[in-house]
Amino acid sequence: MNYIQYMPTKVITGNECVVNNSNLFKSLGKKALIVTGTHSAKANGSEQDVKSALDAQEIEYVVFDKVMSNPTISCVYEGASVAKANGADFVIAIGGGSPMDAGKAIALLAAQDIDEESLFSGQYENKVLPMAFIPTTAGTGSEVTQYSILTNDRAQTKTSIATEILFPTVAFLDPKYMEKLGVTTTINTAIDALSHAVEGMLSVKASTITNALASESIRMIMSCVPKMKKALEFSLSAQFDLQDREQLLQASFMAGVVIAQTGTTAVHAMGYSLTYFKDIDHGRANGILLGEYLKLVEKEQPELSKRIIGAMSLSSVDELIRITNELFGEKEKITAEEFDKYSKMAIQTRNIVNCVVKPTEENIKEMFTKSFL
Ligand code: NAP
Ligand code: FE
Repeated sequence: MNYIQYMPTKVITGNECVVNNSNLFKSLGKKALIVTGTHSAKANGSEQDVKSALDAQEIEYVVFDKVMSNPTISCVYEGASVAKANGADFVIAIGGGSPMDAGKAIALLAAQDIDEESLFSGQYENKVLPMAFIPTTAGTGSEVTQYSILTNDRAQTKTSIATEILFPTVAFLDPKYMEKLGVTTTINTAIDALSHAVEGMLSVKASTITNALASESIRMIMSCVPKMKKALEFSLSAQFDLQDREQLLQASFMAGVVIAQTGTTAVHAMGYSLTYFKDIDHGRANGILLGEYLKLVEKEQPELSKRIIGAMSLSSVDELIRITNELFGEKEKITAEEFDKYSKMAIQTRNIVNCVVKPTEENIKEMFTKSFL
């Protein structure tokens, strides 16, 4: 098996790891741009911890807290101009995948002039601001990937800036920031991570090491499913204790390491249209589609689907579909014409080339339809 394994991000885990390792910020620069969303980083204490760590090291900072979910291109250009106007020489991103992905694009755009037309070209100079990332959801794994996924209105989808220079310099993983993360976001993000691990195993770039990480990540996420169901039943995120939060954060980090090498496959390719056109949350979109893609894999590569279902400790793909149906409840109404349009878009993506089991456009339409029955 020939493969390359490259993941240059230093990862620091554990309780109070931001404040306890404040010295690390010193090596990143003299003035930080803190990139985050509008609200959660203030409520969960992560923004205050970062500020305390920077104060302890006498490092100046400016806050850009305007990142919305599914960040837009104009948001990251605005963030980059705030960085430049204030002389920030490194970026600290705090939040879910949205602020982290925005943080990467901002770090790139603050270091080099790239016009909007060339933003997704893959042709960049080797210049980017150093980055420290603090995930506050356990889902995207963006803290250890080289992808920045932005809402691309021109292409009417979500498009990824993918370049090795976007790996964050350092990531701090502290589960305490997720103690009050709501039930829906906890489930959506956990299933996004599950989808990363599964798709990693279904990628033509899967390797011995990514398969090992993916299997363990799948096992860790699936062992939290009973708590997810309970939390849904009682609408109570307190079902998840700090140990569960830590487990989900580790699993999502591992799945991030996987997709940094393997990329994602048909599920993400299809999910992007659901998010762009129907505003369906990224993790929910993937979770609704995952079972039907595994059904196709089961038909064409039964051994492969068996390995994945085995890692889930389930007996069949149907059992997984029953679980995701339970977790995601009533589905959105989408017409056959809309599925037609989304299928035409999905079949053209790089993610499809990346699939061991490559669906046809007809397969994709059928998977969309069955997933939303
Ligand atoms: P998100 O859009 O970052 O956050 C969702 C919501 O959760 C926001 O309202 C946020 O509030 C809130 N939130 C975040 N942390 C919280 C906490 N600890 N407690 C309470 N609320 C909290 O969601 P996400 O699912 O993590 O990220 C999705 C994005 O990541 C998508 O754009 C997707 O395309 C991308 N993605 C990237 C990769 C990659 O490799 N780079 C992989 C998969 C997905 P605030 O807005 O107030 O912060
Ligand atoms: Fe994802």
